[in-house]
Amino acid sequence: MLVVMSRNASQDEIETAVAKIESMGLKPHVIPGSIRTAIGITGNTGPIEPGILEGMPGVRDVIRVTKPYKLVSREMKKEDTRIEVGNVAIGGASFVVIAGPCAVESESQAFQIAEKVKAAGATLFRGGAFKPRTSPYSFQGLGEEGLKILQKIREEFDLPVVTEAIDVESVGLVEQYADVIQVGARNMQNFSLLKRVGRSSRPVLLKRGMSATVEELLMSAEYILSEGNYRVILCERGVRTFADHTRNTLDLSAVPAVKELSHLPILADPSHGTGKRDKVLPMALAGMAAGADGLMIEVHIDPERALSDGPQSLYPDQFVRLMESLRRLALALDKTLA
Ligand code: PEP
Ligand code: MN
Repeated sequence: MLVVMSRNASQDEIETAVAKIESMGLKPHVIPGSIRTAIGITGNTGPIEPGILEGMPGVRDVIRVTKPYKLVSREMKKEDTRIEVGNVAIGGASFVVIAGPCAVESESQAFQIAEKVKAAGATLFRGGAFKPRTSPYSFQGLGEEGLKILQKIREEFDLPVVTEAIDVESVGLVEQYADVIQVGARNMQNFSLLKRVGRSSRPVLLKRGMSATVEELLMSAEYILSEGNYRVILCERGVRTFADHTRNTLDLSAVPAVKELSHLPILADPSHGTGKRDKVLPMALAGMAAGADGLMIEVHIDPERALSDGPQSLYPDQFVRLMESLRRLALALDKTLA
């Protein structure tokens, strides 16, 4: 259920409506808009009688939200959500590029890559300190040492950093160091992790599970919003199909589908989406053309010796070319590169 306040509703009227919703044993979520405020309601087990709220001062309309996800839906909020991270905004007018290695391997590796991607125009830096690996014998990440390196990168290069929390236990540490907490594809339906990051003050980058539908992705985002964290960035990173010319099939049709159903920003990740570095540039351009709000791109100074995801990591000079191509395409699409 969504309570739409009138354009000139006073702060008092909004607070009275919020108190009324709470008194009904429900959870109000105030959603300020550029024209009017709306209040989303969750926590009901059955339908809510709209009459109780309809007659209240300052209330213009009470709308039933038909989708199973509520707070993330376009029905709840018409305008695109913009998420501010440092002085960067994700969603809305500008297009962001998050770049960096799959994993932080050492201070020298991360610093060399940060210098290259910053110079080429990346807006945020990425790098895993906790890595979800298929094999328990593969490099698992540097843990807190990796987070400390990311913190130094933020200070040295003025780049906000995105890094993954792989379980509930690691969130506390990750949120101390990261600007954005990533929840990876393998954890998209780790509901206790979703609830925990939903109580964090950091924005969350939520990747689509490799066999998840768009509706399941949005339901997972709903877990985070329902706990009070409204700053969620979605990411299409490819799904499992029978195709074997790539590691995953980057499902770019998910981008316009999400845009129709939700107000949240969505990025495309052609690195994990293809698994092959020669496919990253064309699919990055396709991601921009499909309407994504930005990209996540893996870059390594020495991909042949990378401890994870080397085959899909771009060489720095390929990343430079990718940024140049994006700039040209942005002109044609009337977009601005952040
Ligand atoms: C990553 O971003 O390095 C990663 C592990 O991604 P995904 O969860 O999409 O596989
Ligand atoms: Mn990776």
